[in-house]
Amino acid sequence: MSHELKQSTRLVRASIGDDTTYGAVMPPLHLSTNFLFHGPGKTPEYDYARSGNPTRAGLEKALAELEGAASAIFTPTGMSAIDLVLARLVPGDLVLAAHDCYGGTHRLLSWRAARKHFDVRFVDLTDTDTLAAHFQTPPKMVFVETPSNPLLRITDIAAVAAAARQAGALTIVDNTFLTPLGQQPLRLGADIVIHSTTKYINGHSDVLGGAVLPATPELGEELAWIANSIGTAGGAFDAFLTQRGLRTMALRTDRQFASAGVIAERLEANPHVRKVWYPGLKSHAGHALAARQQSGFGGIVSFSLKGGIKAVRRLASGLKLFSLAESLGAREVAAKETP
Ligand code: PLP
Repeated sequence: MSHELKQSTRLVRASIGDDTTYGAVMPPLHLSTNFLFHGPGKTPEYDYARSGNPTRAGLEKALAELEGAASAIFTPTGMSAIDLVLARLVPGDLVLAAHDCYGGTHRLLSWRAARKHFDVRFVDLTDTDTLAAHFQTPPKMVFVETPSNPLLRITDIAAVAAAARQAGALTIVDNTFLTPLGQQPLRLGADIVIHSTTKYINGHSDVLGGAVLPATPELGEELAWIANSIGTAGGAFDAFLTQRGLRTMALRTDRQFASAGVIAERLEANPHVRKVWYPGLKSHAGHALAARQQSGFGGIVSFSLKGGIKAVRRLASGLKLFSLAESLGAREVAAKETP
């Protein structure tokens, strides 16, 4: 697809040749935490690295372009990206969140709600028939994760964003599982996209990171102000490595998404397998919606075995090309032990 080709070309070329000092082809790594003033009261473009750093800015520009966002904020982890967005809320504000969101997101939302930082309700956002009922008490934020972790349920982003807009709420989409190449939530009406760049974007299981990508300059300015105030600044070296990973993301995800499709089909045909969850399979409840709203079905496949937990343990211990570990989206195969 020409759109995809443009995106992949853009990310390969991002920040290349931007160095005006020596003309370095690869962007230099600026580790300095502070920058010289041109004179008293004469502030340079970057003054202190918590507010901005040229290496981080290169990655942020590339991520914003890819996602179609007004700007980007690179954060130390995916969780800190989520928490940065939650920092906009005040006591009494209601957050609607996907009932099957990533466990860490569920923990953070529940912990902050228990401390009355805001209220949270976990609801099934994949069911468009019951959507209107959830909005009877108007929320301030709706937190979507699609495909969800680990059952890959698909939420209709455009439908949720339209309902949220009508209620005066912002729609936040965690796009970690698909990357900006597989799904563009801002184009479907979302207000902010979140990524754990630890996963596909860096793609090598060696750098933690996150990103917040707002649709409008106003939201971008507000979130950058909060990020600077609370110190949610991704490190320069992490940004440098993440941008290096990003250059090959299109190649990696092309292959990973294709492999996942083949693996899902083979698992579904295997007599020892009880059920396979993969949005690319016709048997998946969200298949038609995924085909419409995504430009790929993703690289994650979940399945259960007829023999239950014993069979899972036997399989996980017997596999050769397999790393039993947390995380996803990098080149190694990762899985969680579930019955
Ligand atoms: N969002 C999703 C969908 C995730 O799977 C994860 C981590 O697994 C996160 C957010 C949190 O990201 P991080 O581990 O970079 O803080």
